[in-house]
Amino acid sequence: MSMPGEAKLLPWHRDIWSRLQAARGAGRLPHALLLAGAGGLGKRQFADAFAHSLFCASPDESGAPCGHCRGCHLFQVGNHPDFICIEPEEAGKAIKIDVIRGLVDKGALTTQAGGYRVIVIEPADAMNTAAANSLLKTLEEPVPWTLMILVTSRPGRLPATIRSRCQRVTFPIPPRHQAMEWLGGQIGQGDPQLLLALASGAPLQARALAQAEILKERALMADEFYAAFKGEQDPVAIAGRWEKLDLPRVLNWMAGWLIDMLRLKSGAQPPVLYNPDQRPRLQSMAQGLDFKVLHGMLDRVYDANRTLGSQLNTLMLLESLLLAWANSKTASGVRENT
Ligand SMILES: [Zn+2]
Repeated sequence: MSMPGEAKLLPWHRDIWSRLQAARGAGRLPHALLLAGAGGLGKRQFADAFAHSLFCASPDESGAPCGHCRGCHLFQVGNHPDFICIEPEEAGKAIKIDVIRGLVDKGALTTQAGGYRVIVIEPADAMNTAAANSLLKTLEEPVPWTLMILVTSRPGRLPATIRSRCQRVTFPIPPRHQAMEWLGGQIGQGDPQLLLALASGAPLQARALAQAEILKERALMADEFYAAFKGEQDPVAIAGRWEKLDLPRVLNWMAGWLIDMLRLKSGAQPPVLYNPDQRPRLQSMAQGLDFKVLHGMLDRVYDANRTLGSQLNTLMLLESLLLAWANSKTASGVRENT
């Protein structure tokens, strides 16, 4: 029994899938869904699979699309007139009001093919305030047979007014055995356990990390992070190199190291580390630092993460982070002596 839709459905999606299909069967599908959960769980993939199912004229009882009808065909070739995806023009940029307004103005909310119309907005938190306000109007006056699917790994960034008008579907981190099994079948090389740890349990992210490039980049960054701490390399030079990398990932690595150091400081045997392979080095750095300084560094990284996508100067941002990091030992020392 091979079902085309099933191929796209990830093992940890099944419960959510059944729940939503049951709601659909009972005519209780809401006008707007908010798919929330960590990055790397395949939320967008789920949204697409669910849309496909809605477009199919004869899905099976699990909701899996038939793969042969007109709706399936149009969807599979990426040409379904009632499937609209709204994304930033460029990754990391905002979703602007014109796009959202265009939805309403062009009568895009009425169906073309006579069935469901599905609008996926991803990442929904990329909508700027004007865009969100415009969307709010459409959410306040739902159109029958139109389903909005907002996808985000940062639901807290959406206005509460939007969140309250969507039915929230939370994607949990899958059970370890399930994630390991899936990842094992996906990657040619690499240690699934380490990759999952690095990805905080998010399987798709772990698979992305398996690309050797990224792991090599992380290893080099970890060396430089350590060298900056020991005063062996110029933080400004390091910032110049990191500027060319993917900034969210850079900040994510830094946050992971800092959190691990905090964990290592709080107990002799910390339960889980994001970076188990770096334990000795993280341990040795953590020893020279006090909690307040580590928390302060972590706050800086989080602050930097919040400004992502704004017009901030990336190089300056990294320089200030790395300079603060290079001075963290001194900062801790001064604190302890006073
Ligand atoms: Zn079909």
